[in-house]
Amino acid sequence: MNKITTLGWAAYDEKAVFKPIKFSRNALKDNEILLKTLYCGICHSDIHAAKNEWNKTTYPIVPGHEIVGIVTKVGKNVKDFKIGDYAGVGCLIDSCGKCEACINSKEQFCEKGAVWTYNTLDYDKEITKGGYSNNIKLNEKFAIKIPKDAPIKLIAPLFCAGITTYSPLKFSKVSSGKNVAIAGFGGLGVMAYKYAKAMGAEVSIIARNNKKRQIALTMGAKNYYSDVKNVDDKFDVIISTIPTKYDVLDYVKLLKWGGELAIVGLPPVKDELNLNVNSLVRLSHKKIYGSLIGGIQETKEMLDFSLKHNIFPEVKIIKAEQINKAFDDLLNNSSDFRYVIEFDE
Ligand code: NDP
Ligand code: ZN
Repeated sequence: MNKITTLGWAAYDEKAVFKPIKFSRNALKDNEILLKTLYCGICHSDIHAAKNEWNKTTYPIVPGHEIVGIVTKVGKNVKDFKIGDYAGVGCLIDSCGKCEACINSKEQFCEKGAVWTYNTLDYDKEITKGGYSNNIKLNEKFAIKIPKDAPIKLIAPLFCAGITTYSPLKFSKVSSGKNVAIAGFGGLGVMAYKYAKAMGAEVSIIARNNKKRQIALTMGAKNYYSDVKNVDDKFDVIISTIPTKYDVLDYVKLLKWGGELAIVGLPPVKDELNLNVNSLVRLSHKKIYGSLIGGIQETKEMLDFSLKHNIFPEVKIIKAEQINKAFDDLLNNSSDFRYVIEFDE
């Protein structure tokens, strides 16, 4: 069977400078589809991974797990996609399909180890390469069908930033009358804000500077705090999307009795968060949990919810040649929420 030739952009070491790369993907399997990439979002996870901040990067790395593409080939057992369909791809491209996690559509927790879109060994022992490239192939069960009339330029970040924030908001039963705070107001934070609002909550932002105050207030935020120490409110739910080191207790203290802090931000391992248990126990009956993306079923639900409520990310479209500049901006207080790479037709 023929290998698939791919042109992409890779980082070659921890300096994370992106240069073009030509590589091949294994031949399409019977249950797989091949997509031509149209758009790919730049998630802060791509930065952590490209810089080896989680100590598990294999170079060269081709990141990208917020992908929208058009189907150009289908394996002979593919049932749900045909050539010309639009499809979305998030952080996962395959899993065992048989374990309890997979049966319950929590594929991210597959007991065999799910195949992540980039930087993992797939079941053929090849390191996966993601959406900073002109094509991607995956098990059709992991592709999300996108309606033809959807605003295709805006959709890609939903498949990571969208699902990662939608999932804990649902898990914490955010609804009308709840008081919610979003910590960190970047690519994930703005999605968390929009979903929580659409679910009926009052929503405040906790950031670390004043740069996005006006944007948040114009969007209808209840409050915008540029320093967690200045917050004078108590919340039912806080979603932390912060990608750097911070004090978890600063946020636990802001919860109402029985409130929930959902942590989705993933700081570098050198900046691992510590928890002072003595203080935590004295702040009794508040809950802290972590949340990792979402399963495929919930990702489909998130897309339906986003389309129904007109919830889309704040995107800035760039060309692949601008990836290095986008990384610099994201690390240096850029005011853009999500860069999305547009690939040529
Ligand atoms: P962005 O860089 O787009 O946004 C992060 C935001 O957090 C920025 O606005 C930044 O502000 C702000 N920030 C940084 N430090 C602090 C702080 N100490 N207090 C308050 N705000 C702060 O990143 P993303 O939204 O793309 O990703 C966020 C995190 O979520 C990353 O760690 C990423 O790896 C993780 N992630 C986790 C997933 C999961 O499944 N759990 C899935 C996807 C991503 P400033 O503008 O000042 O820098
Ligand atoms: Zn991501």
